[in-house]
Amino acid sequence: MSNKLLSVKNLEKYFHDKTSETKALDDITFDLYEQEFISIVGPSGCGKSTILSILSYLEDPSNGEFKYSKDITIGYMLQDDSLFEWRTILDNCLIGLEINNNLNKETKAYVINLLKTYGLGDFINKYPSSLSGGMRQRVALIRTLAINPDILLLDEPMSKLDYQSRLAISDDIYKIIKKEGKTAIMVTHDISEAISMSDKVIVISKRPGKVKNIYNIKLSDKSTPINNRKSKDFNKYFDMIWRDLDVHL
Ligand code: ADP
Ligand code: MG
Repeated sequence: MSNKLLSVKNLEKYFHDKTSETKALDDITFDLYEQEFISIVGPSGCGKSTILSILSYLEDPSNGEFKYSKDITIGYMLQDDSLFEWRTILDNCLIGLEINNNLNKETKAYVINLLKTYGLGDFINKYPSSLSGGMRQRVALIRTLAINPDILLLDEPMSKLDYQSRLAISDDIYKIIKKEGKTAIMVTHDISEAISMSDKVIVISKRPGKVKNIYNIKLSDKSTPINNRKSKDFNKYFDMIWRDLDVHL
């Protein structure tokens, strides 16, 4: 078993406005190990994004605590690729390094190498408008990887894409993350996406979000996300998680 990178204990989060209080999270507890890929699934509004905001220090928890086992760099990838249309692909990918004041010959070469390795070599000096939706998401991932983060927080990274692109890009994102040896937490409301990509799936109940179940995904013939969907164990997990989510139509 690899080392524990993060422990999250009994997180609660309340949001306040002038007249009311919303309890967004209730008792969120889980651990994350190095090089593990975790998905958090749950209905919309259950607090998934709030968990990532807390883990990236953008929001404070109201109660509970979380602890990283070491000083870490966090890469946060949002649902919207938020590429700057007036910057080239390379310049978009260098933004994090510029902000961190860490842009130099080596770090730039690292980013160019990532772009080349992951099929974007011909687009380095092109603008985002020349890319498909799937390619834009790949650029957004490489921009996130550029700062060499220890952990990637991915908030519904594929949700804006059509179904086919989603399947393809989930394979891409998975392979890139595994090849680069990264640890990741991905938020999604897509059960199949979660099972096919993850080592562990955390199911969150509707608001206030509580951990309903945590599944260790053990597929006997585990391979890439697209192939995992054909695994004989896939439907077993799908049914359990579907039942947990208790969707009333
Ligand atoms: P999810 O990502 O699962 O859809 P969110 O984490 O975005 O859910 O939101 C959980 C709940 O907290 C929602 O009811 C949302 O309206 C509320 N919420 C989220 N962020 C804020 C905020 N900054 N201020 C007030 N309420 C918020
Ligand atoms: Mg969200």
